[in-house]
Amino acid sequence: MNASIFAAAGVRASCGAVALALLVWASNAAPAGQAAPANKPQQQSSAQQQPQPTAAEKVGLSFVNWGFENASPLQWDVDAEGVLNIRLLYDYERNSPNRAAGHWHFQLQGRPGAELTLMFHNFENIYNRRPGVPVSKNSICFLSEDGRRWRAVPMEFLEGNRLRLRVKLESGTLYLARLEPYRISDLEKLLEEIRGHKLVEIADIGRTVEGRPLEMIRVGNPEAAFGVLLRARSHSWEPGGNWVVQGLIRALLEDDEVSRRCLKRYCLYVMPMANKDGVARGLTRFNMQGRDLNRNWDQPADPQLAPENHALETWLKRMIAAGKQPQLAIDLHNDESGGLHLARPPVEHLQRYLDRMKLFEELLRKHTWFTEGSSGPGFRNPGTLGEGLLERFGIDACIMELNCNWIAGLKQYPSGAAWEQFGRGLREVFFEYFGHLGAEAENKQP
Ligand SMILES: [Zn+2]
Repeated sequence: MNASIFAAAGVRASCGAVALALLVWASNAAPAGQAAPANKPQQQSSAQQQPQPTAAEKVGLSFVNWGFENASPLQWDVDAEGVLNIRLLYDYERNSPNRAAGHWHFQLQGRPGAELTLMFHNFENIYNRRPGVPVSKNSICFLSEDGRRWRAVPMEFLEGNRLRLRVKLESGTLYLARLEPYRISDLEKLLEEIRGHKLVEIADIGRTVEGRPLEMIRVGNPEAAFGVLLRARSHSWEPGGNWVVQGLIRALLEDDEVSRRCLKRYCLYVMPMANKDGVARGLTRFNMQGRDLNRNWDQPADPQLAPENHALETWLKRMIAAGKQPQLAIDLHNDESGGLHLARPPVEHLQRYLDRMKLFEELLRKHTWFTEGSSGPGFRNPGTLGEGLLERFGIDACIMELNCNWIAGLKQYPSGAAWEQFGRGLREVFFEYFGHLGAEAENKQP
Protein backbone atom coordinates (compact mmCIF):
# COMPACT_ATOMS: atom_id res chain seq x y z
CA MET A 1 0.00 0.00 0.00
CA ASN A 2 1.00 3.59 -0.37
CA ALA A 3 2.45 4.92 2.89
CA SER A 4 1.43 8.51 2.25
CA ILE A 5 -2.19 7.47 1.70
CA PHE A 6 -2.06 5.51 4.95
CA ALA A 7 -0.61 8.48 6.77
CA ALA A 8 -3.25 10.79 5.38
CA ALA A 9 -5.98 8.30 6.28
CA GLY A 10 -4.52 7.96 9.77
CA VAL A 11 -4.76 11.72 10.30
CA ARG A 12 -8.46 11.61 9.47
CA ALA A 13 -9.02 8.60 11.74
CA SER A 14 -9.87 10.56 14.82
CA CYS A 15 -12.56 8.26 16.14
CA GLY A 16 -11.71 4.86 17.58
CA ALA A 17 -13.93 2.81 15.26
CA VAL A 18 -12.35 4.24 12.12
CA ALA A 19 -8.87 3.75 13.56
CA LEU A 20 -9.69 0.07 14.25
CA ALA A 21 -10.99 -0.42 10.73
CA LEU A 22 -7.81 1.10 9.37
CA LEU A 23 -5.71 -1.33 11.39
CA VAL A 24 -7.66 -4.29 9.99
CA TRP A 25 -7.16 -2.90 6.48
CA ALA A 26 -3.42 -2.28 7.12
CA SER A 27 -2.89 -5.84 8.37
CA ASN A 28 -4.44 -7.23 5.15
CA ALA A 29 -2.45 -5.01 2.84
CA ALA A 30 0.81 -6.33 1.44
CA PRO A 31 3.87 -4.10 1.80
CA ALA A 32 5.10 -2.68 -1.49
CA GLY A 33 6.84 -5.27 -3.63
CA GLN A 34 5.46 -8.30 -1.74
CA ALA A 35 2.69 -10.70 -2.66
CA ALA A 36 -0.54 -10.28 -0.71
CA PRO A 37 -0.98 -12.87 2.03
CA ALA A 38 -3.78 -15.39 1.79
CA ASN A 39 -7.02 -14.13 3.26
CA LYS A 40 -7.16 -14.71 6.99
CA PRO A 41 -10.53 -15.05 8.66
CA GLN A 42 -11.34 -11.82 10.44
CA GLN A 43 -13.24 -11.31 13.64
CA GLN A 44 -15.90 -8.91 12.38
CA SER A 45 -19.40 -8.09 13.49
CA SER A 46 -22.22 -8.93 11.07
CA ALA A 47 -22.79 -5.17 10.67
CA GLN A 48 -19.28 -4.80 9.29
CA GLN A 49 -19.79 -7.67 6.81
CA GLN A 50 -22.91 -6.08 5.30
CA PRO A 51 -21.93 -3.55 2.59
CA GLN A 52 -23.59 -0.21 3.17
CA PRO A 53 -26.28 0.65 0.59
CA THR A 54 -25.05 3.04 -2.08
CA ALA A 55 -26.69 6.41 -2.62
CA ALA A 56 -28.38 4.94 -5.71
CA GLU A 57 -29.72 1.92 -3.80
CA LYS A 58 -31.10 4.21 -1.10
CA VAL A 59 -33.36 5.92 -3.65
CA GLY A 60 -34.25 2.66 -5.41
CA LEU A 61 -32.11 3.07 -8.53
CA SER A 62 -30.22 0.06 -9.91
CA PHE A 63 -28.89 1.33 -13.23
CA VAL A 64 -29.05 3.99 -15.90
CA ASN A 65 -29.06 2.11 -19.18
CA TRP A 66 -27.88 3.77 -22.39
CA GLY A 67 -26.85 0.61 -24.19
CA PHE A 68 -29.49 0.58 -26.91
CA GLU A 69 -30.30 2.15 -30.28
CA ASN A 70 -30.34 5.98 -30.23
CA ALA A 71 -29.64 6.06 -26.48
CA SER A 72 -27.49 9.02 -25.48
CA PRO A 73 -24.04 8.45 -24.01
CA LEU A 74 -23.93 10.12 -20.59
CA GLN A 75 -22.39 10.11 -17.15
CA TRP A 76 -24.49 9.67 -14.04
CA ASP A 77 -24.23 9.63 -10.27
CA VAL A 78 -26.52 9.85 -7.28
CA ASP A 79 -25.38 12.55 -4.89
CA ALA A 80 -25.64 12.79 -1.09
CA GLU A 81 -29.09 14.38 -1.41
CA GLY A 82 -30.29 11.39 -3.41
CA VAL A 83 -30.51 13.34 -6.68
CA LEU A 84 -29.70 11.44 -9.86
CA ASN A 85 -27.40 13.70 -11.88
CA ILE A 86 -27.47 13.14 -15.62
CA ARG A 87 -24.50 14.69 -17.37
CA LEU A 88 -24.87 14.73 -21.14
CA LEU A 89 -21.76 14.49 -23.31
CA TYR A 90 -21.02 17.12 -25.92
CA ASP A 91 -20.30 16.37 -29.54
CA TYR A 92 -17.94 18.75 -31.26
CA GLU A 93 -17.63 20.53 -34.59
CA ARG A 94 -14.39 20.26 -36.53
CA ASN A 95 -12.21 23.39 -36.72
CA SER A 96 -14.71 25.29 -34.62
CA PRO A 97 -15.48 26.13 -30.99
CA ASN A 98 -19.02 24.78 -31.51
CA ARG A 99 -20.23 21.96 -29.29
CA ALA A 100 -23.66 20.50 -28.69
CA ALA A 101 -25.44 18.44 -26.05
CA GLY A 102 -29.22 18.40 -26.07
CA HIS A 103 -30.32 14.89 -26.95
CA TRP A 104 -31.17 12.56 -24.11
CA HIS A 105 -32.61 9.08 -24.35
CA PHE A 106 -31.98 6.49 -21.64
CA GLN A 107 -33.71 3.97 -19.41
CA LEU A 108 -33.91 3.97 -15.61
CA GLN A 109 -33.96 0.59 -13.89
CA GLY A 110 -34.79 0.24 -10.21
CA ARG A 111 -37.32 -0.69 -7.57
CA PRO A 112 -40.96 -0.65 -8.73
CA GLY A 113 -42.60 2.39 -7.20
CA ALA A 114 -39.32 4.23 -6.56
CA GLU A 115 -39.60 8.01 -6.89
CA LEU A 116 -36.53 9.69 -8.32
CA THR A 117 -35.38 13.27 -8.74
CA LEU A 118 -33.23 13.82 -11.82
CA MET A 119 -31.02 16.80 -12.54
CA PHE A 120 -29.83 17.25 -16.13
CA HIS A 121 -26.53 19.05 -16.73
CA ASN A 122 -24.21 20.14 -19.55
CA PHE A 123 -26.34 22.45 -21.64
CA GLU A 124 -23.51 24.97 -22.06
CA ASN A 125 -23.50 24.61 -25.82
CA ILE A 126 -21.52 26.74 -28.25
CA TYR A 127 -23.71 27.52 -31.26
CA ASN A 128 -22.54 29.60 -34.22
CA ARG A 129 -19.38 30.33 -32.16
CA ARG A 130 -21.37 31.84 -29.27
CA PRO A 131 -22.58 30.41 -25.97
CA GLY A 132 -26.05 28.98 -26.40
CA VAL A 133 -28.36 26.98 -24.14
CA PRO A 134 -30.67 24.52 -25.94
CA VAL A 135 -33.18 24.22 -23.07
CA SER A 136 -35.42 26.67 -21.20
CA LYS A 137 -38.38 27.01 -18.86
CA ASN A 138 -40.43 25.56 -21.74
CA SER A 139 -38.46 22.31 -21.87
CA ILE A 140 -40.30 19.02 -21.67
CA CYS A 141 -39.34 15.38 -21.30
CA PHE A 142 -40.93 12.32 -22.86
CA LEU A 143 -41.56 9.26 -20.69
CA SER A 144 -42.42 5.72 -21.66
CA GLU A 145 -42.63 2.34 -19.96
CA ASP A 146 -42.12 0.37 -23.17
CA GLY A 147 -40.16 2.78 -25.39
CA ARG A 148 -43.12 2.93 -27.82
CA ARG A 149 -45.97 4.83 -26.19
CA TRP A 150 -44.70 8.20 -24.98
CA ARG A 151 -46.16 11.02 -22.90
CA ALA A 152 -44.70 14.49 -22.45
CA VAL A 153 -44.22 16.16 -19.06
CA PRO A 154 -42.90 19.64 -18.21
CA MET A 155 -39.49 20.09 -16.60
CA GLU A 156 -38.16 22.70 -14.18
CA PHE A 157 -35.47 25.02 -15.53
CA LEU A 158 -33.06 25.97 -12.75
CA GLU A 159 -30.21 28.39 -12.28
CA GLY A 160 -27.02 27.14 -13.91
CA ASN A 161 -28.87 25.91 -17.02
CA ARG A 162 -30.04 22.75 -15.31
CA LEU A 163 -33.29 20.86 -15.77
CA ARG A 164 -35.02 19.03 -12.92
CA LEU A 165 -37.57 16.29 -13.24
CA ARG A 166 -39.30 14.01 -10.75
CA VAL A 167 -40.40 10.59 -11.97
CA LYS A 168 -41.83 7.39 -10.55
CA LEU A 169 -40.69 3.94 -11.66
CA GLU A 170 -44.15 2.39 -11.64
CA SER A 171 -42.97 -0.89 -13.10
CA GLY A 172 -39.30 -0.65 -12.22
CA THR A 173 -38.17 0.61 -15.62
CA LEU A 174 -38.78 3.90 -17.38
CA TYR A 175 -37.49 5.35 -20.64
CA LEU A 176 -36.83 9.09 -20.85
CA ALA A 177 -36.18 11.05 -24.03
CA ARG A 178 -35.90 14.67 -25.13
CA LEU A 179 -38.39 14.04 -27.93
CA GLU A 180 -40.44 11.09 -29.10
CA PRO A 181 -37.68 8.98 -30.63
CA TYR A 182 -37.53 8.03 -34.30
CA ARG A 183 -34.77 5.49 -34.75
CA ILE A 184 -33.07 3.90 -37.75
CA SER A 185 -35.20 0.80 -37.06
CA ASP A 186 -38.33 3.00 -37.36
CA LEU A 187 -37.11 4.22 -40.74
CA GLU A 188 -36.40 0.64 -41.80
CA LYS A 189 -39.98 -0.32 -40.92
CA LEU A 190 -41.27 2.53 -43.09
CA LEU A 191 -39.01 1.48 -45.97
CA GLU A 192 -40.29 -2.10 -45.67
CA GLU A 193 -43.86 -0.83 -45.69
CA ILE A 194 -43.47 1.17 -48.91
CA ARG A 195 -40.86 -0.85 -50.78
CA GLY A 196 -42.26 -2.42 -53.93
CA HIS A 197 -45.18 0.05 -54.18
CA LYS A 198 -45.61 1.03 -57.82
CA LEU A 199 -45.29 4.75 -57.01
CA VAL A 200 -42.15 4.34 -54.87
CA GLU A 201 -38.48 4.05 -55.66
CA ILE A 202 -35.90 3.81 -52.87
CA ALA A 203 -32.48 4.68 -54.25
CA ASP A 204 -29.19 4.15 -52.45
CA ILE A 205 -27.36 7.45 -52.93
CA GLY A 206 -24.29 6.98 -50.74
CA ARG A 207 -22.89 6.10 -47.35
CA THR A 208 -22.46 7.92 -44.06
CA VAL A 209 -19.02 8.38 -42.48
CA GLU A 210 -19.52 5.03 -40.72
CA GLY A 211 -20.81 3.30 -43.84
CA ARG A 212 -24.56 3.33 -43.23
CA PRO A 213 -26.63 3.50 -46.44
CA LEU A 214 -28.26 6.81 -47.34
CA GLU A 215 -31.64 6.62 -49.06
CA MET A 216 -33.49 8.86 -51.45
CA ILE A 217 -37.18 7.96 -51.49
CA ARG A 218 -39.17 8.93 -54.56
CA VAL A 219 -42.94 8.98 -54.31
CA GLY A 220 -44.80 9.60 -57.56
CA ASN A 221 -44.03 9.97 -61.22
CA PRO A 222 -40.61 11.44 -62.04
CA GLU A 223 -42.15 12.91 -65.21
CA ALA A 224 -44.56 15.09 -63.21
CA ALA A 225 -44.26 18.81 -63.96
CA PHE A 226 -42.98 19.70 -60.48
CA GLY A 227 -40.66 18.20 -57.91
CA VAL A 228 -40.16 18.85 -54.21
CA LEU A 229 -37.19 17.71 -52.14
CA LEU A 230 -37.38 17.20 -48.38
CA ARG A 231 -34.45 16.39 -46.17
CA ALA A 232 -34.84 15.27 -42.56
CA ARG A 233 -32.58 14.63 -39.59
CA SER A 234 -29.37 16.43 -40.56
CA HIS A 235 -29.16 17.02 -36.79
CA SER A 236 -29.51 13.78 -34.92
CA TRP A 237 -31.36 15.12 -31.84
CA GLU A 238 -34.21 16.41 -34.06
CA PRO A 239 -36.63 13.57 -34.93
CA GLY A 240 -39.53 15.87 -35.91
CA GLY A 241 -38.66 15.80 -39.61
CA ASN A 242 -38.71 12.02 -39.66
CA TRP A 243 -42.28 11.95 -38.38
CA VAL A 244 -43.28 14.63 -40.89
CA VAL A 245 -41.90 12.80 -43.93
CA GLN A 246 -43.44 9.54 -42.69
CA GLY A 247 -46.85 11.22 -42.45
CA LEU A 248 -46.50 12.79 -45.89
CA ILE A 249 -45.30 9.61 -47.61
CA ARG A 250 -48.10 7.52 -46.07
CA ALA A 251 -50.69 10.12 -47.05
CA LEU A 252 -49.48 10.29 -50.64
CA LEU A 253 -49.63 6.51 -50.92
CA GLU A 254 -53.27 6.38 -49.85
CA ASP A 255 -55.05 5.62 -53.06
CA ASP A 256 -57.57 8.43 -52.66
CA GLU A 257 -58.71 11.31 -54.85
CA VAL A 258 -56.42 13.84 -53.09
CA SER A 259 -53.28 11.79 -53.56
CA ARG A 260 -54.07 10.99 -57.18
CA ARG A 261 -54.45 14.65 -58.12
CA CYS A 262 -51.38 15.62 -56.03
CA LEU A 263 -49.15 13.08 -57.72
CA LYS A 264 -50.38 14.14 -61.16
CA ARG A 265 -48.90 17.54 -60.40
CA TYR A 266 -45.73 16.82 -58.43
CA CYS A 267 -43.21 14.18 -57.49
CA LEU A 268 -41.82 13.93 -53.96
CA TYR A 269 -38.18 13.19 -53.14
CA VAL A 270 -37.16 12.55 -49.53
CA MET A 271 -33.76 12.09 -47.96
CA PRO A 272 -35.20 10.74 -44.72
CA MET A 273 -32.22 10.55 -42.38
CA ALA A 274 -29.04 12.41 -43.23
CA ASN A 275 -27.16 12.02 -39.96
CA LYS A 276 -27.80 8.31 -39.45
CA ASP A 277 -24.56 7.77 -37.53
CA GLY A 278 -25.54 10.39 -34.97
CA VAL A 279 -29.02 8.85 -34.65
CA ALA A 280 -27.56 5.37 -34.12
CA ARG A 281 -25.14 6.61 -31.47
CA GLY A 282 -27.56 8.96 -29.72
CA LEU A 283 -25.51 12.09 -30.41
CA THR A 284 -26.84 15.61 -30.67
CA ARG A 285 -25.78 17.43 -33.81
CA PHE A 286 -22.60 16.79 -35.81
CA ASN A 287 -21.65 13.90 -38.08
CA MET A 288 -18.85 11.51 -37.13
CA GLN A 289 -16.23 13.76 -38.73
CA GLY A 290 -17.43 16.73 -36.71
CA ARG A 291 -19.27 18.36 -39.60
CA ASP A 292 -22.59 20.13 -39.26
CA LEU A 293 -24.71 18.81 -42.13
CA ASN A 294 -26.63 22.07 -42.24
CA ARG A 295 -23.50 24.13 -42.89
CA ASN A 296 -21.01 24.52 -45.74
CA TRP A 297 -23.70 24.36 -48.41
CA ASP A 298 -22.17 27.51 -49.92
CA GLN A 299 -19.48 25.27 -51.46
CA PRO A 300 -19.23 21.74 -52.85
CA ALA A 301 -19.57 19.12 -50.11
CA ASP A 302 -16.41 17.36 -48.94
CA PRO A 303 -16.80 13.64 -49.79
CA GLN A 304 -14.61 12.54 -46.85
CA LEU A 305 -15.76 14.91 -44.12
CA ALA A 306 -19.42 15.23 -45.10
CA PRO A 307 -20.24 12.21 -47.30
CA GLU A 308 -23.91 12.61 -46.29
CA ASN A 309 -24.02 16.04 -47.96
CA HIS A 310 -21.85 14.90 -50.85
CA ALA A 311 -24.37 12.12 -51.57
CA LEU A 312 -27.28 14.55 -51.63
CA GLU A 313 -25.41 17.09 -53.74
CA THR A 314 -24.33 14.43 -56.27
CA TRP A 315 -27.95 13.26 -56.53
CA LEU A 316 -29.13 16.85 -57.00
CA LYS A 317 -26.60 17.57 -59.73
CA ARG A 318 -27.71 14.41 -61.54
CA MET A 319 -31.32 15.55 -61.32
CA ILE A 320 -30.43 19.00 -62.65
CA ALA A 321 -28.44 17.47 -65.53
CA ALA A 322 -31.48 15.32 -66.38
CA GLY A 323 -33.74 18.38 -66.45
CA LYS A 324 -35.54 17.31 -63.26
CA GLN A 325 -34.44 20.01 -60.86
CA PRO A 326 -36.87 20.23 -57.92
CA GLN A 327 -38.60 23.59 -57.72
CA LEU A 328 -38.78 23.53 -53.93
CA ALA A 329 -36.49 22.14 -51.21
CA ILE A 330 -37.18 22.03 -47.49
CA ASP A 331 -34.81 21.02 -44.73
CA LEU A 332 -36.68 19.87 -41.62
CA HIS A 333 -35.42 20.66 -38.12
CA ASN A 334 -36.43 21.05 -34.47
CA ASP A 335 -35.67 24.05 -32.31
CA GLU A 336 -37.24 25.89 -29.39
CA SER A 337 -39.20 28.40 -31.53
CA GLY A 338 -40.44 26.82 -34.75
CA GLY A 339 -40.96 28.70 -38.01
CA LEU A 340 -39.60 29.10 -41.49
CA HIS A 341 -36.04 30.34 -41.91
CA LEU A 342 -35.97 32.33 -45.12
CA ALA A 343 -32.47 33.57 -45.83
CA ARG A 344 -31.80 36.61 -47.93
CA PRO A 345 -28.48 36.06 -49.68
CA PRO A 346 -27.59 38.51 -52.46
CA VAL A 347 -29.14 36.58 -55.35
CA GLU A 348 -30.91 37.78 -58.43
CA HIS A 349 -34.70 37.66 -58.13
CA LEU A 350 -34.55 37.51 -54.33
CA GLN A 351 -37.92 39.25 -54.10
CA ARG A 352 -39.58 36.66 -56.35
CA TYR A 353 -38.20 33.94 -54.06
CA LEU A 354 -39.55 35.76 -51.01
CA ASP A 355 -42.95 36.16 -52.66
CA ARG A 356 -43.14 32.44 -53.33
CA MET A 357 -42.10 31.68 -49.77
CA LYS A 358 -44.85 33.99 -48.53
CA LEU A 359 -47.31 31.93 -50.54
CA PHE A 360 -45.81 28.75 -49.10
CA GLU A 361 -46.26 30.10 -45.57
CA GLU A 362 -49.90 31.02 -46.27
CA LEU A 363 -50.56 27.52 -47.55
CA LEU A 364 -48.95 26.00 -44.47
CA ARG A 365 -51.34 28.01 -42.30
CA LYS A 366 -54.25 26.89 -44.46
CA HIS A 367 -53.55 23.15 -44.63
CA THR A 368 -51.55 22.35 -41.47
CA TRP A 369 -51.38 23.46 -37.82
CA PHE A 370 -48.47 25.80 -38.68
CA THR A 371 -48.69 29.21 -36.96
CA GLU A 372 -45.09 30.08 -36.13
CA GLY A 373 -44.31 32.49 -38.97
CA SER A 374 -41.02 33.17 -40.71
CA SER A 375 -37.72 34.95 -40.20
CA GLY A 376 -37.73 38.69 -40.81
CA PRO A 377 -35.86 41.08 -43.12
CA GLY A 378 -32.09 40.84 -43.03
CA PHE A 379 -32.07 37.22 -41.85
CA ARG A 380 -29.03 35.23 -42.96
CA ASN A 381 -27.69 31.87 -41.87
CA PRO A 382 -24.86 31.25 -44.31
CA GLY A 383 -24.02 27.73 -45.33
CA THR A 384 -27.42 26.26 -44.45
CA LEU A 385 -29.09 24.05 -47.02
CA GLY A 386 -31.71 26.75 -47.52
CA GLU A 387 -29.22 29.46 -48.44
CA GLY A 388 -26.84 27.15 -50.26
CA LEU A 389 -29.36 25.62 -52.68
CA LEU A 390 -30.82 29.05 -53.40
CA GLU A 391 -27.41 30.64 -54.04
CA ARG A 392 -25.68 27.84 -55.90
CA PHE A 393 -28.52 26.13 -57.77
CA GLY A 394 -31.30 28.74 -57.86
CA ILE A 395 -33.69 26.36 -56.06
CA ASP A 396 -36.35 27.85 -53.78
CA ALA A 397 -35.16 26.37 -50.50
CA CYS A 398 -35.77 27.00 -46.84
CA ILE A 399 -35.27 25.62 -43.36
CA MET A 400 -38.40 24.57 -41.51
CA GLU A 401 -38.05 24.46 -37.75
CA LEU A 402 -40.58 22.51 -35.70
CA ASN A 403 -40.95 23.73 -32.14
CA CYS A 404 -39.68 20.95 -29.87
CA ASN A 405 -41.62 22.07 -26.76
CA TRP A 406 -45.06 23.15 -27.87
CA ILE A 407 -47.34 23.09 -30.92
CA ALA A 408 -49.11 26.43 -30.70
CA GLY A 409 -51.56 25.60 -33.50
CA LEU A 410 -52.80 22.53 -31.61
CA LYS A 411 -52.22 23.88 -28.08
CA GLN A 412 -50.42 20.68 -27.12
CA TYR A 413 -47.02 19.17 -26.59
CA PRO A 414 -45.40 17.79 -29.75
CA SER A 415 -45.71 14.10 -30.56
CA GLY A 416 -44.87 11.80 -33.40
CA ALA A 417 -48.57 11.65 -34.28
CA ALA A 418 -48.89 15.46 -34.41
CA TRP A 419 -45.87 15.73 -36.68
CA GLU A 420 -47.23 12.97 -38.93
CA GLN A 421 -50.46 14.96 -39.13
CA PHE A 422 -48.42 17.98 -40.24
CA GLY A 423 -46.83 15.81 -42.93
CA ARG A 424 -50.27 14.76 -44.19
CA GLY A 425 -51.18 18.41 -44.54
CA LEU A 426 -48.13 19.10 -46.70
CA ARG A 427 -49.74 17.02 -49.45
CA GLU A 428 -52.24 19.80 -50.19
CA VAL A 429 -49.72 22.56 -49.48
CA PHE A 430 -47.51 21.34 -52.32
CA PHE A 431 -50.52 20.79 -54.60
CA GLU A 432 -51.63 24.40 -54.32
CA TYR A 433 -48.10 25.79 -54.28
CA PHE A 434 -47.20 24.13 -57.57
CA GLY A 435 -50.61 25.08 -58.97
CA HIS A 436 -49.67 28.73 -58.46
CA LEU A 437 -46.23 28.18 -59.96
CA GLY A 438 -47.84 26.55 -63.01
CA ALA A 439 -50.29 29.41 -63.46
CA GLU A 440 -47.44 31.93 -63.08
CA ALA A 441 -45.41 30.17 -65.79
CA GLU A 442 -48.40 30.09 -68.17
CA ASN A 443 -49.06 33.79 -67.67
CA LYS A 444 -45.47 34.58 -68.61
CA GLN A 445 -45.69 32.76 -71.94
CA PRO A 446 -45.96 35.05 -74.98
ZN1 LIG B 1 -31.36 21.46 -36.71
